[in-house]
Amino acid sequence: MNSFISVIARSETTKQSLLNNDQIALVIKLLKIAMRDLPDPSVTLVGKKYKSPFLVLISCLLSLRTRDETTLPASERLFARADSMQAMLKIPISEIQKLIYPVGFYKTKALRIHEICDDLIHRFNSKVPEDLDQLLTLKGVGRKTANLVLTEGFGKPGICVDTHVHRISNRLGYIKTKTPEETEFSLRKKLPKEYWIEYNALLVTWGQNVCKPISPICSKCPVNNICQRVKVGISR
Ligand code: SF4
Repeated sequence: MNSFISVIARSETTKQSLLNNDQIALVIKLLKIAMRDLPDPSVTLVGKKYKSPFLVLISCLLSLRTRDETTLPASERLFARADSMQAMLKIPISEIQKLIYPVGFYKTKALRIHEICDDLIHRFNSKVPEDLDQLLTLKGVGRKTANLVLTEGFGKPGICVDTHVHRISNRLGYIKTKTPEETEFSLRKKLPKEYWIEYNALLVTWGQNVCKPISPICSKCPVNNICQRVKVGISR
């Protein structure tokens, strides 16, 4: 960290106040530098590789309650067999189950994939809607998935809050919330819009590799001069 950055970090951070937007801008800048050599989260990789909002939507669905190392190969197996809603509807549900196994709830998700494809074809003219409220009308699509489709599928602003974004935003002391839903609305009010698209992937990657749920590696974290480490118990 250069001396100018250190001065901002130390002089403006107190244990009592929440981080301000200059400080979160600095956190984002430092995390981007630190993560250059770390892999993107699976849905971000799907967005970059396939450039298809539909495949991002399906991959988001597969990622729910599933680890990234399972989500990405399952997505690739399915997309190698079918990469459009029409093609996916032609695959029997039992075959989709086999292709996406062992993602969590693979039986329900295979059925849901058929239902979503059918709905998109009939209600949305075979297109994924670019609107949060419309995305939320699709069966099985919650706020996390809908926001991620906007950011990773369409490159539009959205705030996707998963367990990593909720945990790290609170640990940093940028917001103070109890639930992921509160976190989304708090970030919508506070986080400058220019960071909305990248915020999820940055914090997911950081949460998977450094700021882990148990015993985060604070000693090697480039933002430990800024982070208030709220409710961090044991750390390395
Ligand atoms: S200093 Fe520790 S708690 Fe704060 S972001 Fe870094 S790893 Fe997480």
